[in-house]
Amino acid sequence: MGSRSAARGIADGGTKARPTATIVSSQTPNAGAATTANSEATAKPSANGKATLSTRVVAYQIDAKLDPATHTITATETLTYHNLTGQPQQEFPFHMYLNAFQPQSTFMAEQRLDSPEYEWKPEHFGSIRINSIEATGMGDLTSTMHFIQPDDANTLDQTVMQVKLPKPVPPGADVEFKIAFQDQMPAVVARTGYLRDFYMVGQWFPKVGVWWKNAWNCHQFHENTEFFADFGTFDVNVTLPQNEVVGAGGDLLSEKNNSDGTKTLAFHSEDVHDFSWTASPSYTRVDDSWTGSAGTVQIHALISPGHMGTAQRYIDCVKGTLQKFDEWYGPYPYDRITLVDPPHGGGRAGGMEYPTLITLDTSWLSPKSVLLPELVTEHEFGHQYWYGMVATNEFEEAWLDEGINSYTEVKVLDALYGADKDVLNLPYGTLGERDLQRASYEGVADTDPMTRYAWKFLNGNAYGGITYGKTATVLLTLEKIVGEDTMRKAIRTYFMRYRFTHPTGEDFLKTIEEVSGQNLRWYFDQAVSGTAIMDYEVMDLHSDPLPWYPASGGKDSGEGKNGFRNYVLVHRKGDFIMPVDLQVRFKNGEAVTEHWDGRDRWIRYTYDRPDKIVSAEIDPTHQVLLDRDMFNNSHTTAGDGKAARKLNYLATFFDQWIGQFMAWLT
Ligand SMILES: [Zn+2]
Repeated sequence: MGSRSAARGIADGGTKARPTATIVSSQTPNAGAATTANSEATAKPSANGKATLSTRVVAYQIDAKLDPATHTITATETLTYHNLTGQPQQEFPFHMYLNAFQPQSTFMAEQRLDSPEYEWKPEHFGSIRINSIEATGMGDLTSTMHFIQPDDANTLDQTVMQVKLPKPVPPGADVEFKIAFQDQMPAVVARTGYLRDFYMVGQWFPKVGVWWKNAWNCHQFHENTEFFADFGTFDVNVTLPQNEVVGAGGDLLSEKNNSDGTKTLAFHSEDVHDFSWTASPSYTRVDDSWTGSAGTVQIHALISPGHMGTAQRYIDCVKGTLQKFDEWYGPYPYDRITLVDPPHGGGRAGGMEYPTLITLDTSWLSPKSVLLPELVTEHEFGHQYWYGMVATNEFEEAWLDEGINSYTEVKVLDALYGADKDVLNLPYGTLGERDLQRASYEGVADTDPMTRYAWKFLNGNAYGGITYGKTATVLLTLEKIVGEDTMRKAIRTYFMRYRFTHPTGEDFLKTIEEVSGQNLRWYFDQAVSGTAIMDYEVMDLHSDPLPWYPASGGKDSGEGKNGFRNYVLVHRKGDFIMPVDLQVRFKNGEAVTEHWDGRDRWIRYTYDRPDKIVSAEIDPTHQVLLDRDMFNNSHTTAGDGKAARKLNYLATFFDQWIGQFMAWLT
């Protein structure tokens, strides 16, 4: 979901956007099967004769009817589940995400814990109710339905439902579920819902869990979790009033008007793990296209009233992003991408990703110098790769989607809009994407490891700051260790190897080690699975005349006629150990660069020189972005103290400013 906005909860119910979710599907009969599954899948022809991209575990066929008067959707769903688990399966869990929007849910309890000022708002009520469920050839299962809570003890949480078949489905066989359900859509809350005549319909149908690491993986819906699901096909018919303009994560196959004033649109999508759609009579549709290495991609932008001024910026950004991803990481194989611009006040539906459909953000006037629309567009499009195709488990390893995506966001935005000015580009000040990522991590640097399950972080800020900001900063620092080209090659290898599967964090780390040819465990252990703070400082520098004592009976010391003894004391304040460079400059312009392994807690360098030392700077070429406090990295002699103070003042100002900017992002 959207950028750092994830770091802030829905809070007062009016404010913050929630991290959104998508579904990632996966099947993976066993943890190691991902690569095999992929290569197998590419060889298998689909019904239309084309090779399939994924191993298709699920086939959903849904007929849905929207009633805008009551904000309800009445639907029937046929789910064909292909049992690739390698064993008989008798019990099946389903996500019922919309049930999170109820006061007794785990989602809302976590929100209240995160923001004690949060008050329940009845218009945020959402629900998904199953009226009946049967398995073809096995009869009615409705009486076996019950809610389970695999993650916590909240027996009132109804976001996971389980059914039991009268007999197991053998390995390799299919089971077909037929489900009748009804959604009550909430007033737009966390990535889904309605606002006036606008609908963003996400997480809206009963969705089967993923067989993963030899067990069902079907977590409850949490305040800070997104999704996980298996790949397959979606055939979705949407019936709604004829004046609605509709967008969806699928190809429109047909559209017909019905005699009751409604129309029915038929969509198809394949090799994806979720399906979402949007409707509003107020949209203006803008179409464009882009052609890359895998063919032409149709771009459909649905623009809300008053936002046409931003339409071209969205489109230009998505084209630039498609180009960079194609060039650097791999092809975009789908034939479309739909851009959804939520209406004014609908920001909580903005900044979210679904397969081939993303929701954007223009939450304020957005002059060209403030690149918020571009930032959100790039970020959400990036999720087509990190989540959409490389379908990691967002509940358990959110850093693999949000974090890798935040790293590629820096790379792509820097390339498209210029490093250090791709967030703000004003005549009197600029701000770069990498600084924004660093800023979000600095305040929560030691609360949780990146590898924490998404709902187990200290709070929403820690989840956002670590998952997005720290991961991006860890990877930017890693890029300096292995080299930019190697890093790009490693990310490309990871994408091409694991697309349409469900890789783990270890798969990602191993790929970087393999491509770089380096053992990087010393770094991963500290940065990825650890919480150690990285902070180096120049603790002291000073010069003493040579000799420092009065020479041969005189009352003065040498006053430097024989030169000076210069000292620099470098201190590793945090527990994170990393080699660093130190650059020392003398008054006569001479400079010395030291390389310290950082293993000890401190090191003192001593130089006998004709001149005094004037400055010392750790990491002078700014390689180590993980260093939490960069303002103690350099030290100048007394005369320059004012400059240092000014720098600190500017830093404080900048931090506050960044905080303000991040608040706008929600
Ligand atoms: Zn995201």
